[in-house]
Order: sequence, then C-alpha cells, then structure tokens
Amino acid sequence: MEFDLIEYLRKHNPVQRPDVLQGIGDDCARLRVESGYELAVTTDTLVSGVHFPADTPPHAIGYKSLAVNLSDLAAMGAEPAWVTLAMTLPRADMAWLASFAEGFFGLAERYGVQLVGGDTTQGPLSITVQAQGFIPQGQAITRAGARPGDYICVTGFLGEAGLNLLKYKGGDLAITTARNRLNYPEPRIIAGIALRGIASAAIDVSDGLIADLGHILTQSGVGARLTLEDLPLSAAMLEDQDPAKMYELALTAGDDYELCFTIGEQHIERINQLQYDLKLPIKHIGNIQENPGLRIYRRGGEPLEIASGGYEHFSDKRHG
Ligand code: ADP
Ligand code: MG
Repeated sequence: MEFDLIEYLRKHNPVQRPDVLQGIGDDCARLRVESGYELAVTTDTLVSGVHFPADTPPHAIGYKSLAVNLSDLAAMGAEPAWVTLAMTLPRADMAWLASFAEGFFGLAERYGVQLVGGDTTQGPLSITVQAQGFIPQGQAITRAGARPGDYICVTGFLGEAGLNLLKYKGGDLAITTARNRLNYPEPRIIAGIALRGIASAAIDVSDGLIADLGHILTQSGVGARLTLEDLPLSAAMLEDQDPAKMYELALTAGDDYELCFTIGEQHIERINQLQYDLKLPIKHIGNIQENPGLRIYRRGGEPLEIASGGYEHFSDKRHG
C-alpha cells in the first residue's frame, strides 16, 4: 500500500531539476548547491483538526501544506528549489492522494519546486513538508534588521483568511468548495526575492500581524507605531457592516501569509515601483521606533489598548 502511494507521487512529480542528482527512491535524496549560495531550510506541520478543519478537501491540504513552507522561504528572500513530504494518513486512499497531489504539485510546478523525498506512515492525518531554497550569500532578509525610522509595509490584504475561518465556523462558507484565502494562500515568493537588498527585516504573517511584527521588533531590539486605518483591507472587508471587527481581524487573525517587512526611507520609491512590477499592492502601515513595544493609533491619534495575549476588542472602547 505504502509503495503505491510513493510510486504515485514519484510518477506525478511535475518538476525535474538539474540540481537533483537523485530524487525519490533511495535512502536519501542527493542535491547540488551552487557555490555562492546559502541553503535556506524550513519545515511546517499541518495536523487535521488543528491547522485545518477536518473536512478540508485534500486538494486544499496539498496546496496549503506546500504554500505555508514556501511562504517561510519567501520571508527570507529565498528562491525555492526542493521539498520533502512526510505524510501520515489514516488509510491508503488513492483518490484522496490524487486530489492532494493535484493541489501540491500544481503549486510546486508554478515555482519550479521538485519533490525529492519524504516518508509515508499510517495514523491520524498529518502532513509535514520541509522546503529548501537558495539565497545569494549574505543576502538573506532576517527578522533582526529593522532600525528606528524604517517604514513598515505589508503585501496584499490582511484578515481575509481569518474572515473566511469565521464564516466557515458560522456556517456561511462551505470549506469543501470555496477556493478561498484560508485554503489557498499565495506564497509571496517573487516579492521576497525582489526585496533582497531593500528590506531590512521581513516575516510572513502566519499568526497575525501583532504577533508576527512582534517577532521583528523583539529580534531587532526596536519598537513600532502603526495607524489602524492604514492596515490593508480587501474591498469586501471594507464594505463590511462592522469595520472595527475587520481591523481586529487584520491585526490578530493568522493564515494570510502576506509579507510584513521593513525598509529604510531611501527605498520608498522602489517599493512604489515594485507594486506595479509585481501587480501586488504594498501598503505602508507604520514606522519602526527606538522605544520597544508596539503602539497602535487610530487616524485621529487615539491609542488602542493592546493586551499581552493579543489585544482587547476595541469596538467596545470606541467612545470609552
Ligand atoms: P526508508 O525506509 O529509507 O525511509 P521509505 O520506504 O520511507 O524509505 O521511502 C522510500 C523512498 O520514497 C525514499 O526515497 C523516500 O524519500 C521516498 N518517499 C517516501 N514517502 C514519500 C512521500 N510521501 N513523498 C515523497 N517521497 C517519499
Ligand atoms: Mg521512511
């Protein structure tokens, strides 16, 4: 049974890279790293019922398990090359695997990523992907480089995946059919590569902006101020009846996999150009400050309360 599954993946692998000396089939894969490059390595596990609802279609699980790993590579400015896939499946279900593989390989093909190995075991559904990519030596974008005065920017829109999850929980979104931002986040690979030499720090927003920007601030030893109304909301979210809720999602909800990055003021023009080149909105949402901690203000200057575990639901405090 296990052999059939592995054989299926090996056969349907759409990408054959010249730097793969040996892929699926032996005890190890053998890979060639060009001189002058660093290897960036990342891994993420998705557990059914924890990281995705148990009724998520296999196509979406395949897509997302790869997307979240490519997103980590993007946040370092790495160009993805190889992945391994460790699958724990309740049973050998070829129809399930075929749909999973379609989601996984569809994304892999778009970015020229080759599946080079993995592991297949039986148990409660859990998918672990490890992704590897290249960074020209010394050009990695880390979380530690933000400096006072830097501009804080984000790609795309925030809060959409969180809104999708709320709708799903409320029964307003059929997770089994919708090709939505929760199931199909776009890893910002091209943006990450374009930000080499421009961004002073970067992270992908997987756990929510406050949490993830917080990692940049801590690791850079700086603080920041944000203006709430500058957070990028999609047109659909802007039209929502409850704008306070939408901004709360943009601050705290995870799973958007947009990039949050910082740049020195001298690069602002290049960022404006990049939006057009990449056809991807990039929004300036605040600035890095010397004083540690994150401060969020409304456009009028009124500060928001941020609780330690996240932040308080501020719609109640609006006129308080
Ligand atoms: P081993 O006993 O050496 O771990 P396995 O039987 O687990 O070997 O795997 C055989 C080959 O198939 C190895 O090359 C492994 O990398 C590959 N493989 C196993 N499972 C997967 C998977 N889910 N995706 C891709 N390759 C896999
Ligand atoms: Mg094995």
